[in-house]
Amino acid sequence: MAEAVAPGKKEYGSESVFGLAFFMVENAGIYTLNMRRCEMIELPEAMVLAKQCNQAIAGKKIEEILVNQSPHKLAWFVGDPEDYAKKLAGKTIEKASAIAGFVELKIEDVRLAFSDGVQLLYAQQGEQFPKKHQLLIRFMDHSFLAASIRMYGGIWCFDPGEWGNEYYKIAKVKPSPLAEGFSEDYFLKMMANEKMLKLSAKAFLATEQRIPGLGNGILQDILFEAGIHPKRKLNTFSMKEKRALYHGSLAVIKAMAEQNGRDTEKDLFGNPGGYGTAMSRKTVGQPCPKCGDLIRKEAYMGGSIYYCPSCQKE
Ligand SMILES: [Zn+2]
Repeated sequence: MAEAVAPGKKEYGSESVFGLAFFMVENAGIYTLNMRRCEMIELPEAMVLAKQCNQAIAGKKIEEILVNQSPHKLAWFVGDPEDYAKKLAGKTIEKASAIAGFVELKIEDVRLAFSDGVQLLYAQQGEQFPKKHQLLIRFMDHSFLAASIRMYGGIWCFDPGEWGNEYYKIAKVKPSPLAEGFSEDYFLKMMANEKMLKLSAKAFLATEQRIPGLGNGILQDILFEAGIHPKRKLNTFSMKEKRALYHGSLAVIKAMAEQNGRDTEKDLFGNPGGYGTAMSRKTVGQPCPKCGDLIRKEAYMGGSIYYCPSCQKE
């Protein structure tokens, strides 16, 4: 079984999986990252990227691969990244899928998955390209797919069945919102678990990978939609509020995916998403779209929360 080379060993803070406070032990050095300003792809953007990959690159044959041209300390590969070229060159992209916040390409007998901290960009020859990238795929028609890691991220090339990052595996097996198994009953049962009752709304939604693909970005609008303050404990929720949270999650994620992702993120062609975030760094200090009160920002659980103090009472 192939092992991830960089980092050799990873440890995640208990608060989160990919996001918020994050700890990593690499060789002798310990990196503690504050994810406060880090934008991440979440389920809606992964869905948009997968759809766009299916339109733009499915059927294209790979001519050349460049890996790690801009070395990045927090870039994770499977095995030796130098082997990626051997594994991928000459093969054809068959299909892209979104797995929680990951985008996975099926490339004949190999899989290439990008974690939620990776920015993907597709361009034709001669079009503007990212200066820094950790993976560049050049197709026979000379168009490119570039993967650039923001703060940290995984670019995983592997044989299916041979490798399984823990987070990737969980993302694959747990029902993702918008998937069939993610029913109201499933959600309410998850909330009724004794261990959940002391958690805040934010902790419930975005930690421990309870809901794959739902992170600190999209939860802000979900909680606004449901009229729930991010710090409210689950044991204070009425049944009406629990249902509002479930239906709000589905409605918001669906709207984000249909409108090409959030306006705080970019799509495969470098364009910002068409979904105007209600609660984000773009709207802080502005009037709430429902009541006109001013939108607030606070630091909470190693990241920011955005909320309307009138619509979302603590
Ligand atoms: Zn309001």
